[in-house]
Amino acid sequence: MKNKKFVILGAQASGKGTQAEILSKRLKIPIFGMGEMLHAEGERETPRGRKIRAIIRRGGFVPFAITNELIKKRVAGPKARRGFIIDGYPRHIVQARFLNRLVSDIRVIYIKIFDKEAKRRISGRRVCGKCGEIYNLTVKPPKRKGLCDSCGGRLVTREDDKPKAIRTRLGLFHRETEPVIKYFARLGKLVEIDGKQSIEGVAKEIEKKLSKQEMTTDIRENQYNPNAARIAE
Ligand code: AMP
Repeated sequence: MKNKKFVILGAQASGKGTQAEILSKRLKIPIFGMGEMLHAEGERETPRGRKIRAIIRRGGFVPFAITNELIKKRVAGPKARRGFIIDGYPRHIVQARFLNRLVSDIRVIYIKIFDKEAKRRISGRRVCGKCGEIYNLTVKPPKRKGLCDSCGGRLVTREDDKPKAIRTRLGLFHRETEPVIKYFARLGKLVEIDGKQSIEGVAKEIEKKLSKQEMTTDIRENQYNPNAARIAE
């Protein structure tokens, strides 16, 4: 595979992080995680750091000037030379247009799941307060209840995994990120993957569709809410 420049897209808990890691190992290319970049920026004790932290806590969008600048730096950086997977960006049509101008041969892997499944998965997610290891009470439970297997730290629910923040984030996904999916579909740069399968099943479908260049261009109109569709025009 010559072109290894990807975006991986999907609602919260679609499994995109896991799939990004699998693809990253297979193709030996780095992952540029917008969420991680922003969490790191938000840890700084500066006015900008505090602002980012507050936005992340309530699950809103960090200003595009910040996200676009971060991505621009990464794709131009030395680690991007052999390709990359961008995770968590673009989530808005403005970001999508920016990225498409920046990397015109980008391909977008969209892992699709329904809200009900996303909510079910998120409600079981726990993270170690000490080392950050992620667990899932149904799929990947800790050996000892409430404690991290690796470091013994206490497991907590991430602030942005709490019900109110989840509603905000899923709402943002439908309203703002679905136009991004349509945009790349129309450009013939999207592959759509069924995210309800097992981890291996999803990974196989990605591999197959990328190698066969099976791009999705026929995103059905009724698949998304009408407001989202209008924003994409
Ligand atoms: P994540 O860990 O990927 O869910 O990202 C954590 C938080 O970072 C999100 O809830 C947003 O507040 C912020 N964020 C991540 N990606 C973006 C983006 N592309 N544009 C704006 N804000 C973002």
